[in-house]
Amino acid sequence: MLGGPLMYKILVIGTLLIGSLSLLGNLLPAGRHHIRSRRMLGTLRAPVALVAALLAGEPSAEAAAEKKPAGKKGTVRKTDEQWKKELTDDQYQVTRCSATERPFTGKYWDHHEEGTYHCVGCGMGLFDSETKFESGSGWPSYYQAVNSGAITEIKDISYGMVRTEVVCSRCEAHLGHLFPDGPKPTGMRYCINSASLDFQPKNGEKSVEK
Ligand SMILES: [Zn+2]
Repeated sequence: MLGGPLMYKILVIGTLLIGSLSLLGNLLPAGRHHIRSRRMLGTLRAPVALVAALLAGEPSAEAAAEKKPAGKKGTVRKTDEQWKKELTDDQYQVTRCSATERPFTGKYWDHHEEGTYHCVGCGMGLFDSETKFESGSGWPSYYQAVNSGAITEIKDISYGMVRTEVVCSRCEAHLGHLFPDGPKPTGMRYCINSASLDFQPKNGEKSVEK
């Protein structure tokens, strides 16, 4: 530790100084002198305590820096190459490049089975068929997500508009946008690209990952 011995000396001298002043303070009769020395002690204690805290804190700060950065729980991260390999072209363009599929062309805009719509990138459940509604937009639309932690909202100012982009909380796949013109009970409309979804029927053979 560079400068360690010097810091130690400062600490020791500081402590000795405080000690002798305390002793002096106690020996002095009550009165103005006593009060003055007490005040002086107060002003000296702060810097010495700071040095002591710095010395004591140094090793733990180093240990913290050595620790691996703790990622968000359950976060799925892959390289661009991996995503390209695992996804179809359309899925890749939408989820990783924030493209928008043409309306009335996706797999799910006119899809009415009971089940759950999962993220095509990581398999996390995002929307329940019970919250799907006919928006007339040509994209699958839902009035709420399966839970508040499934989707992350991001302010999107692209194309000269202020919109709310929605992405998968686990793998950050672009899903679509959120508009405040949906039906009751939430009044919200999650306008989602079919290409970012993978439907799993309620009683299907596919395992439902929650
Ligand atoms: Zn995902």
